[in-house]
Amino acid sequence: MRNLSQYSKEIAIGIVPVALIFLIYIGLPPAVFVMGAFMLTAVFLFMRTRGGGLAMGAAGKKVAARKPSFLSFEDIGGQEQPKRELKEALEFLVQRDRIEKLGIRPMKGILLTGPPGTGKTLLAKAAAQHTNSAFMAASGSEFVEMYVGVGAGRIRDLFKEARQQAIKQKRDSAIIFIDEIDGIGGKRDGGQHREYDQTLNQLLTEMDGIQGDEDVRVLLIAATNRKELLDAALLRPGRFDRHIQVDLPDKTGREHILNIHARNKPIDSGVSLSKVAEETFGFSGAQLESVMNEGAIYALRDESPTIGMEHLSRAIDKVMMGERMDRETTREERERVAIHELGHAIVAESVRPGSVAQVSLTPRGQALGYVRHNPQADSYLYTKRVLEEQIMIALGGAVAEELNYGGRSTGSRGDFEHATGIVRTLIESGMSELGIVHPQALTQEMWSKENAAILNALTEQTRTLLSAHMETFKQMLDVLIQEETLSGEQLRAHMKQLAA
Ligand code: ATP
Repeated sequence: MRNLSQYSKEIAIGIVPVALIFLIYIGLPPAVFVMGAFMLTAVFLFMRTRGGGLAMGAAGKKVAARKPSFLSFEDIGGQEQPKRELKEALEFLVQRDRIEKLGIRPMKGILLTGPPGTGKTLLAKAAAQHTNSAFMAASGSEFVEMYVGVGAGRIRDLFKEARQQAIKQKRDSAIIFIDEIDGIGGKRDGGQHREYDQTLNQLLTEMDGIQGDEDVRVLLIAATNRKELLDAALLRPGRFDRHIQVDLPDKTGREHILNIHARNKPIDSGVSLSKVAEETFGFSGAQLESVMNEGAIYALRDESPTIGMEHLSRAIDKVMMGERMDRETTREERERVAIHELGHAIVAESVRPGSVAQVSLTPRGQALGYVRHNPQADSYLYTKRVLEEQIMIALGGAVAEELNYGGRSTGSRGDFEHATGIVRTLIESGMSELGIVHPQALTQEMWSKENAAILNALTEQTRTLLSAHMETFKQMLDVLIQEETLSGEQLRAHMKQLAA
């Protein structure tokens, strides 16, 4: 396939005179041929721009080699464990002679797994800088093509070019980074996708071809958010046999990342990045970078020379819930949204006193209103009761609408999705009536039945809880409609007063 593509120009040059002589021989005027040639060229060019290149596209569309921006491990915040593990794994490139003397086989692949935006690409770039290697990056999706052999050709080109780049830059190693490797390395399901299989096979062949004694030693670093989808052939020893988990940063990590992205920005002396780190539980590195950037944009809009705490607070809201919208809403709609949000907030305050930071009627992104919760300590383990409370908080909006209006609205869709997500965690962690079950052994019917049982019971509990607060709804509604926001303190004070 590739050979044909290499000689496509020569083939075209050869065909032209032969076709011309043939047409004159059978008596057709050459003008017909010129028109035909014109149309063929147009079709050929069209196919090339579509990326297929008449199944000869391996050379037609090369995977772009991206130059590494200068970046070291010091520029990556948090992620101490992955950094340490990666540096250790890279020793074989740095201490090449010792590794050779001990007869250790070269490491060929390192797999980085974890949620999006946690710095996997940054780690690969820093690895190239640390080992003084040439760096090539590509994404799994760039190898997905309709035509058989095209993706495989691109893999071949990528490895070849990495070696060439290293030689050109006078380096003795090259690091190839493939993001979203699941795009090409997913499990094969029995010969349905020939193109896909060929691409993966080519990757395996290239990895097997990496020898310890080459002039340029190649190391493949791949990243994925879904390791469980990868084909077993990729994960066996001798291929991606070193796996490094890159998780969402903890509070110290978040503060470190915020500090890195604050380096080039005029931050007000009153700003506490430690507080920002506290309020951003669950944020990825990419989201934290976005908080700093959006904070700077808010400072620019306010014509402030420095970035203050309130700019960063607004930025956190924006990254968490989307941009503030100027949506026109009717009075009835606003009232319903207020009741809905109060429902979430009253349940939250009842099951976890002190947890509500703010109730707001400002439309943001898809939401018409929202409740912001106070930062909790980073926790990675949840008990059954905590998960049930989270479900009750999610159901609070719909139950509040029911109690006040006698029916629900479409505003609860997202809440229900959230609630069923938590139910899934409950069931899969063996905390439901089903006991310990393997997720694959769970039939659709079993799942629906258990899901309904859990949600019905918790809806009932939420209803009982909120029925005791009808007066709070009444009093808080006017305040919320008028002020648009209600602080956690205000809500707590009212609830306390009414309970007395
Ligand atoms: P994906 O899986 O979506 O490709 P990723 O894990 O490769 O994501 P990166 O591309 O490395 O994520 O990170 C995106 C951006 O987020 C970086 O350019 C950087 O600005 C910021 N970022 C992410 N993690 C960190 C970190 N640990 N330290 C500093 N910045 C970070």
